Amino acid sequence: EDKEEELVIDYVSKNMNNMTVNMPYQCFINGKFINSDDGKTYDTINPADGSVTSVSSASLADVDKAVAAAKEAFEDGEWGRMNARERGRLMYRLADLMEEHQEELATIESIDSGAVYTLALKTHIGMSVQTFRYFAGWCDKIQASECVKEMINGSASPHFFLVVILLKHVCAIIIPWNYPLMMLAWKSAACLAAGNTLVLKPAQVTPLTSLKFAELSAKAGFPKGVINILPGSGGLVGQHLSEHPDVRKVGFTGSTPTGKQIMKSAAANLKKVSLELGGKSPLIIFSDCELDRAVKMGMGAVYFNKGENCIAAGRLFVEESIHDEFVRKVVEEIKKMKIGDPLDRSTDHGPQNHKAHLEKLLQYCETGVKEGATLVYGGRQVHRPGFFMEPTVFTDVEDHMYIAQEESFGPVMVISKFKNGDIDGVLRRANATEYGLASGVFTKDINKALYISEKLEAGTVFINTYNKTDVAAPFGGFKLSGFGKDLGEEALHEYLRTKAITVEY
Ligand code: NAD
Repeated sequence: EDKEEELVIDYVSKNMNNMTVNMPYQCFINGKFINSDDGKTYDTINPADGSVTSVSSASLADVDKAVAAAKEAFEDGEWGRMNARERGRLMYRLADLMEEHQEELATIESIDSGAVYTLALKTHIGMSVQTFRYFAGWCDKIQASECVKEMINGSASPHFFLVVILLKHVCAIIIPWNYPLMMLAWKSAACLAAGNTLVLKPAQVTPLTSLKFAELSAKAGFPKGVINILPGSGGLVGQHLSEHPDVRKVGFTGSTPTGKQIMKSAAANLKKVSLELGGKSPLIIFSDCELDRAVKMGMGAVYFNKGENCIAAGRLFVEESIHDEFVRKVVEEIKKMKIGDPLDRSTDHGPQNHKAHLEKLLQYCETGVKEGATLVYGGRQVHRPGFFMEPTVFTDVEDHMYIAQEESFGPVMVISKFKNGDIDGVLRRANATEYGLASGVFTKDINKALYISEKLEAGTVFINTYNKTDVAAPFGGFKLSGFGKDLGEEALHEYLRTKAITVEY
């Protein structure tokens, strides 16, 4: 009865980037692309030119259907009977298919999220493929964590005591719009490697690569119901998933306020939750750094993916003696950046993800000016179609200011000075944030770098580099940046449940 029916896919096809991209646009439930239960659709907008693609908007009934399919897939379906090695093979096959379709996926990612194509290809899609391969390798290496034969509580008879790992439950995965496919991969790959099934809700504004992923997963041979994708609204689909009694775990990446809301919804049946939330990551630049490298990396720390990067350096602390030169060099480099069509291979800086976000960023800059920070460069919309914003630099930022405390999630560099040699002072200021996702330090003094990295309250510390994450290294924040890890072995444990079994013989 598990025999797959032939996959029927309606596509929206577009000619972009000298290729035809074929995009599924319906909900993916129980191995089929179908219209939403109530027939509703919405438009997802290309931020580079305002053109639209219409996709199905999942309803509450669709959530119930998808969760039921995900439950059945391990209770009665092929997935439940499949051994770990075969699960791994399916994941490798899916990674291969993603790689075969990498140019199409990168093009779709670019037109849906505004990511520059070259970055989409290397990071958004490239790291997604790597993530699936990494976790595919884990499938047959998840083992009972303990297996001891001993006397328990002084009993005369021998006991065999096992802590086994109980696999398989329904997980909800709810993700943001900044790296649509990569966020999907970071969570889904760990979730599937651990044997679970999933219902994933992409951000409403960026559903397209997750639907293409659904198509590839079916082609790779994933049994029906294991992977379900529901484009739709957070307040409706996301909320219902977080509250659903048959969902046992929510993996969430997004903003801190939504993370808090999800924890409340998940409390209904005490679901396991992991939250990757916002950040305001400090980057400390000492005068004994290699200045040109610090300028280049510091710019990457802020402007990578047009600032729509959760680990972006939200605040730069630059030692007084090099401050002015650092700022001058940054501005010089910004002037060389090419802003424009993200599909053009020579573009450095694409449009912001959506209109409301651009408006929020412009408001953020106005607030900075009103508070008395110095706007050295940018702060304005770029006058061309789409939602483009100039890379921006603020200096003279004081600790109490809004722009010193709140995440922009855009291309806004926020620079504060610190007194020459004041290591503990700058550390105190760097840690004086509610967030704790990432941080960085530039110095040639290894003792100083290690002293600081030990004291920084953040889940990631970069020394003389930035944005270098790896699929094998745990990723996640402290404080209001959430808890739980993506990537690395630790991520698997977010999706596993253990059970103790004791046998007397
Ligand atoms: P968001 O919180 O608005 O939305 C994230 C997801 O949650 C979306 O799919 C949305 O539809 C859904 N959602 C909204 N309301 C919901 C509700 N009540 N119940 C359930 N789901 C709901 O965040 P965003 O604007 O999409 O993303 C930007 C934020 O994400 C930034 O704060 C950024 O720092 C953070 N982020 C963090 C990481 C990380 O790894 N820590 C990575 C990327 C982005």
